[in-house]
Amino acid sequence: MVLSAPVLFECKPVFTLDLPFGQQIRLLNHRFEPRRGSSALEITILTGLHGDELDGGYICHLLSQFLQRLPAGWLLRGIVNILPNANPLGTSLGQRSVPVLGSDLNRNFPGDPQGNEIERLAASIYQLAARSTVCVDIHSSNSFLEELPQTRVVHEPQVLKWAGTLGLDVIWSHSAHNWIPGTIAKALFSRGIHTLVVEVGTGRRLNRVHCERVFRGLLQFLQAIDVLSGQPTIYSAPQPLYATEANVIHINAEVGGLFVPHPALVLGGHLHRGARLGQVIDTLSGEQTDVTTPIDGYLFTLRVHPVVYAGSLVARLIHV
Ligand SMILES: [Zn+2]
Repeated sequence: MVLSAPVLFECKPVFTLDLPFGQQIRLLNHRFEPRRGSSALEITILTGLHGDELDGGYICHLLSQFLQRLPAGWLLRGIVNILPNANPLGTSLGQRSVPVLGSDLNRNFPGDPQGNEIERLAASIYQLAARSTVCVDIHSSNSFLEELPQTRVVHEPQVLKWAGTLGLDVIWSHSAHNWIPGTIAKALFSRGIHTLVVEVGTGRRLNRVHCERVFRGLLQFLQAIDVLSGQPTIYSAPQPLYATEANVIHINAEVGGLFVPHPALVLGGHLHRGARLGQVIDTLSGEQTDVTTPIDGYLFTLRVHPVVYAGSLVARLIHV
């Protein structure tokens, strides 16, 4: 254990899997404890369950560096675990799933310590997160879509309040039965532990502005739950848009081709019913099909990978 000025910090493996030809899957946890005493609060912030989502790695780096060099006037009051990459082999190879094991890690929770390799990997992450009062699971979108920075949570007042402290553009809440089976958020929820799922940007990319916002939001969240104390509010958050199961509209391509977005589209922007999101162009026949919005709403998801099939998601709007 390393003694930094104000906190106890250790970087320790929580899981190791030997692969057949000398490689390893090794998960490292950055664990921070107050030097003197601590509250009962323990928080786990993890990322990289999907190996091709990269923003969370940089966000965790910013937070870990901040806690390791806690500025004067700041005090750590609880325990913080940071798992900066839950699928390091996937990230090394640019893959969403766990290579070789061939499965989406975030569909395998709570895992099984006696099970196959991916179940054991999931179980080790789950055991760490299940000690926590709250967990934060950071994702990017896939490489087809760009997401306005958002927090996805179950629709409960306390959780919505925590989500608000992150200061992101959108809070997307859903009822408890709508957690996706096998996700760490659902597995923890079954045990009475809440998870804030952060989703920003695009897979295989890193958006520095989004990352720095989420980092500052995490500082605010840690202050709000009294795991960290320090400067008063350091970041003035925008009033979030509230998305629910009732007001999110999915807009899908009607035909296949290249989706060319309207040049004036801005994530977070308000669109009136009938506004053109762009066109799907069949480059072989020359046919052009407009994609329009059926409602007034705020654009918070937009397709960035241009190839679409009939039915592909092009955009999501919040109807307010
Ligand atoms: Zn993901």
